[in-house]
Amino acid sequence: MDGGANWLVMLTPAAIAIDRLSYRYPDGTPALDEVTLHINTGERVALIGNNGAGKSTLLLHLNGILQSPAVTVLGMPVEKATLREIRQKVGLVFQNPDDQLFCASVEEDVAFGPTNLRLPAEEVRRRVSESLGSVGLAGHEQRSAFHLSTGQKKRAAIATVLAMKAEILVLDEPTSNLDLRGRRELFEVLNAFPGTLVIATHDFEWAARLCPRMALFDHGTLLADGLSGAVMDQFTALK
Ligand code: ADP
Repeated sequence: MDGGANWLVMLTPAAIAIDRLSYRYPDGTPALDEVTLHINTGERVALIGNNGAGKSTLLLHLNGILQSPAVTVLGMPVEKATLREIRQKVGLVFQNPDDQLFCASVEEDVAFGPTNLRLPAEEVRRRVSESLGSVGLAGHEQRSAFHLSTGQKKRAAIATVLAMKAEILVLDEPTSNLDLRGRRELFEVLNAFPGTLVIATHDFEWAARLCPRMALFDHGTLLADGLSGAVMDQFTALK
C-alpha cells in the first residue's frame, strides 16, 4: 500500500461525520434515534427508506437548518459560527424546486447566492454561465422558473448551489414528479458532479446507478449501511 496516500486519507476530514444524532421535533415527534454515519470526501451515498424514516430530517442537519453538536461537516461542527461557510460548501436542494427559485428570471435565481457573497460582477456572471451550462440550461437565463418544466426547475435549483461552488451536494427526493427523460437528464447532471453526493430518495433503483453506497433508515434508526445491492435487498425485505 502507498504510505503517502494512506496518510492523506487520515489527514483529510470526513465530508460528513454524524455521531449518535438523535432529534425530536418541537411537537415531540421523534425523527432520528442515535444515528451514526460517516461519509468521505467524494463518496456518493443514497439514504433510502420509507416515508417518515427520518431522511429529510437528517439532511436538514447537514447545512445547519437544524443544528446538533453530533454533526461535523468538512471538519467543522455545524453551529452558528460556522454556518456561513457550511452553507457555501453544502448545497441543499429541496424536494420542491419552487422553494429554491423565487426571482424573476433563472439568471437572477442562480446569481442570488454569489451576489450575496459580494463577489465581483464578472465572477458572478461567470459562475451563472458555468452552472447553467453544466445543468444543461444555457440559453434559459432570461426565463422565469415558473415557466420551466419540473425537470428544468430541478436542474435550475441544482445550478443555484453549483454557483456557490458547493463541495457537497445534498438532494431530497430529486426524482419526485420527474418523467423518464427528466430522470435521465438529472442522472447525467449528478453523475458529472465531482464532489460528495448525498441523496435521500425512495427511488432506490435510480439512485443505485449513481451511488455505490446506501444507508437504509427506518423509524429514525439506521438499519443498514453498505454496498447498494445488499442494502436494497434489505429494504425490499423490509417492505
Ligand atoms: P423522510 O424524509 O424519511 O420521509 P422525515 O425526516 O420527513 O422522514 O420525517 C421523520 C419523522 O419526523 C416523521 O415521523 C415525520 O412525520 C416527522 N416530521 C417531519 N417534519 C416534521 C415537523 N416539521 N414537525 C413535526 N414532525 C415532523
